[in-house]
Amino acid sequence: MSSSFSSVSKPASSTPVSPQAQHLESLTDVIHFLHARGWTPATSSNFSCRLPEGQTGFSISVSGLDKGTFSAEDFLEVDFAGQVICPEQAHLRPSAETLLHALVYQQFPAAQVVLHTHSVNGTVLSKLYEASQGLLLKDFEVLKGLEGIRTHQTELWLPIFGNHQDMTVLAAQIEPVLREQKPVYGFLLAGHGLYTWGDTLAQAKRHVEVFEFLFECVLKLRSHGYSDYS
Ligand SMILES: [Zn+2]
Repeated sequence: MSSSFSSVSKPASSTPVSPQAQHLESLTDVIHFLHARGWTPATSSNFSCRLPEGQTGFSISVSGLDKGTFSAEDFLEVDFAGQVICPEQAHLRPSAETLLHALVYQQFPAAQVVLHTHSVNGTVLSKLYEASQGLLLKDFEVLKGLEGIRTHQTELWLPIFGNHQDMTVLAAQIEPVLREQKPVYGFLLAGHGLYTWGDTLAQAKRHVEVFEFLFECVLKLRSHGYSDYS
């Protein structure tokens, strides 16, 4: 491209877009992708990304919005206690599950994005394996989609916790497991949904896709009477 063409095409005045605003745009694209897959029904599910280096807290989706029409303006900034940071956003209500996002960020300093979805398959499996307090995923090639896993010959425990409306109670149950189980890539809340995260947005999205693929596999294997998932 010639320099003269560049100078002609350049807008006379352009408002620079901050890196965080770009992150929220990209996260919104992922939310629309997850919604299109049917994993965020009826205004459920919530999503967040950590604030830039030097700031404490994260941006999280506003509560109760349809994820098909969700926009990059529908986030608000909260601290790790779940309190809204900016006075001008004080009238907005963060997701009820904000404390669980905070828990993940505090347990995993490298995590940049937390995605929480409500798929049918994840919900059904969480009920089927609630009594076992987890689901063992092993010998699937697609496990390699989880960051750091190099072989299908992997046994990965996906913890399942009983659901609760009090996030303080839930966080107290989940925290020791996240702290002690290594590696841990996500967890299910029984009858509720999946939490997973990543050090990048792409990694977090990939982790949702891995888990959803495996949930479908497990349910199909069960329906065929496969011994590992009977
Ligand atoms: Zn939820």
